[in-house]
Amino acid sequence: MSHTHVAGSIHADVASAAPHWLAVPTDVNALLPRLWSRNVAKNDSGELTIAGLTATGIAERVGTCAYVVDEDDLRARAREFADAFTGWGVYYAGKSLLCKAVARWVTEEGLGLDVCTGGELAVALAAGVDPERIGLHGNNKSSEEITSALRAGVGRIIVDSDDEITRLIKIGEELDVEPTLMVRVTTGVEAHTHEYISTAHEDQKFGFSIAGGQAEAALRRIHDHPRLRLVGIHSHIGSQIFDADGFEVAARRTLRLHAQFAQETGVELPELDLGGGFGIAYTSQDTPSTPQQLADALNRIVTAECAALGVQVPHLSIEPGRSISGPAAFALYRVGTVKRVLLDGGASRLYVAVDGGMSDNIRTALYAAEYSATLASRRSDAPPALARVVGKHCEGGDIVVRDEFLPADIGPGDLLAVPAAGAYSRSMASNYNHVPRPPMVSVKDGTITTLIRRETIDDLLALDVG
Ligand SMILES: *Cc1c(COP(=O)(O)O)cnc(C)c1O
Repeated sequence: MSHTHVAGSIHADVASAAPHWLAVPTDVNALLPRLWSRNVAKNDSGELTIAGLTATGIAERVGTCAYVVDEDDLRARAREFADAFTGWGVYYAGKSLLCKAVARWVTEEGLGLDVCTGGELAVALAAGVDPERIGLHGNNKSSEEITSALRAGVGRIIVDSDDEITRLIKIGEELDVEPTLMVRVTTGVEAHTHEYISTAHEDQKFGFSIAGGQAEAALRRIHDHPRLRLVGIHSHIGSQIFDADGFEVAARRTLRLHAQFAQETGVELPELDLGGGFGIAYTSQDTPSTPQQLADALNRIVTAECAALGVQVPHLSIEPGRSISGPAAFALYRVGTVKRVLLDGGASRLYVAVDGGMSDNIRTALYAAEYSATLASRRSDAPPALARVVGKHCEGGDIVVRDEFLPADIGPGDLLAVPAAGAYSRSMASNYNHVPRPPMVSVKDGTITTLIRRETIDDLLALDVG
């Protein structure tokens, strides 16, 4: 497909430099609904709207760049997991996006909350989350973090190392409490995703290996200690997973260990956690499952496996993070500069630079993650041009959206929105280049609320006490 009238350009096939999965849009203004939260649309002037507000209005109120979360949407995703996984525990993975409001929303919708540092625990407690519904993760929990968690009375701690077990015994004795523990195991499953977000193959830092025998030893050590209360095995195989096969193999290996432990000790552990990592749609190539489809698949897998092993189905839990927070928010940027760069073969690429970048979304640089974008402040009649959305940082890899078709007339002052920016964007944001971190605002029924305010240069200077 060729547009010979791209404004001011050489006219090569606009798609020639695009990745195979990215189709030239028939309407460059159109939204692909599954990438956006449920209250997002475009109005007659082509402006992006969310729950009764325009992107232009939001930008005037809170500035750019900003993360804009659709409260109804995030709550609905939490509720869908709770409903689909009836009888299971569903723990929202706070590391994907955590602030007091989000902690309240997910727990009000019936979920528990996973944290993996003392900082995340402090936010959960400040939000008033019932400590009994909090789980503490982490491969290197400090004595201070373990002490805070035990003092607060968190419902479960997911143990990740022998050193941690030693620490738990000591601190449990000091505080005279009996910690409730799960054992994080590695199942040898390599989820089909980017290497850095596959966490259950063996050569990495998390958990105790089943194949190497360390998992069984850790279970026995905890079981045999009078002060420690062992409730079950925990497995998390990675993130952005679309394929149930990975969960099937992981559940089989985990349940085999569960059954073997029952045989050796006479104790069937009461719980089992299968982790999170359910994939979401960042671009048109992603087709996620619904919570109900996931629940049906996981229930079928676990029921069959427990029957085959002759054990009862333990109380099950999962830990979805991005599948709740990810699609619920978009990032809103303002375009500052646009450059047309000529590529080999006569094609060209628009480099659209926005007022943010790798400091507010590191995933593209870190994991080669793919994103999408749309012009958010107006309709354009210009043809689609292959574009790359880049940030303002001093780094060639400072890319927000590697490949997207945007209107060829996009220019300074236009607003650009990037969907699926709810997870691992604000939570991984940095101050690289001393860029203050953007605010997180929520929108509901035409009302905007600041959840996390914009950082200021004064905030940054306040840390610089030398
Ligand atoms: C990161 C993580 C999750 C959540 O992963 P998502 O991809 O956000 O669903 C769940 N459990 C554990 C242990 C994790 O580390």
